[in-house]
Amino acid sequence: LPPKATELKPRAAPVKAKNKDHPPPPPAEVPEPPSADRPNGATYTVGKMLGKGGFAICYEGQLQPTRQRFALKMVKKQMPSKMESKFQTELQIHSKMKHKNIVQFFRAFSFNECTYLTLELCPNGSLMDMVKRRKGLTEAEVRFYSVQIAGAIKYMHAKGVIHRDLKMGNIFLDAGMNAKIGDFGLAALLVTGKDMQTIRRTTLCGTPNYIAPEILEKGRTGHDHSVDLWSLGVIVFAMLTSKPPFQSTTTDEIYRRARELDYEWPSNDTGQCFTSDEIKDLVATMLQDPKYRLSPDEFIEHPFFTSGYMPSEAEMTPRLRELPPD
Ligand code: ADP
Repeated sequence: LPPKATELKPRAAPVKAKNKDHPPPPPAEVPEPPSADRPNGATYTVGKMLGKGGFAICYEGQLQPTRQRFALKMVKKQMPSKMESKFQTELQIHSKMKHKNIVQFFRAFSFNECTYLTLELCPNGSLMDMVKRRKGLTEAEVRFYSVQIAGAIKYMHAKGVIHRDLKMGNIFLDAGMNAKIGDFGLAALLVTGKDMQTIRRTTLCGTPNYIAPEILEKGRTGHDHSVDLWSLGVIVFAMLTSKPPFQSTTTDEIYRRARELDYEWPSNDTGQCFTSDEIKDLVATMLQDPKYRLSPDEFIEHPFFTSGYMPSEAEMTPRLRELPPD
């Protein structure tokens, strides 16, 4: 069925949560009810707040008595119906993912009118915060993260999952400063029907700065996994320069710039640009018509990766942890 005109309207902004939509602060100890593999249930000691999302709040949680640390993501059980279905999809998709660069999902349970998810703890914030703090990464650091993110995308796509909202703010950093993709709230499963025909999701979604132009084309019946490859191109640009390429004050202007590929690499006062030709070519290759974008395997074979220095994790961690003075 062709999508209804209303379904093709770009989302102006994500559904804004009101204060009442956020869950109340949790108790100092959250009990996990007994389940088949944990007949005695479990208890989490709640620690500091990690962050607030649309409808979720995340806290640090320590499982007793092992003291293993997790991120406890909590949402109110009663949510507006639109958020309810978003959350169900998120749960369904995220719980099936297992990859070293995807936030590991462990459990979901209910307690006191709230649903709790236990997730792998990423104690070093998001890639966006780190990149902003450092006012952009070096090309070697961009190489390190790009390979990790491309690996996670390859894995998701092989499982028939399109993330659709890949951006630096949805990529978290673990204790070793590795990238972990989180927040599957807008992800979609490509369902393969009886006749093996792919049913594509037609909803418009994503964050304006990272959204691929073909999602905006009226009359298209869907979009596929190559939208994540566009976002990967935007992420590479943003990691290096600390700003997404099509940044503008209005969403319409961002879309116009993305459609027209209107972006510039930054240069200094005297007009010099220190960005390598390889990374420029890589980004240009990802920011083009879907059929020409590199697959994750092709991406990591690009000269930017094969002819440049690739730092090891051991080398990266101490440097990335450093907080430059404000
Ligand atoms: P929402 O789905 O409502 O957008 P998020 O998944 O983005 O919620 O979580 C809200 C905030 O909680 C994030 O911005 C981040 O600061 C923090 N957070 C989420 N997941 C983790 C995690 N696994 N480890 C550490 N902090 C996290």
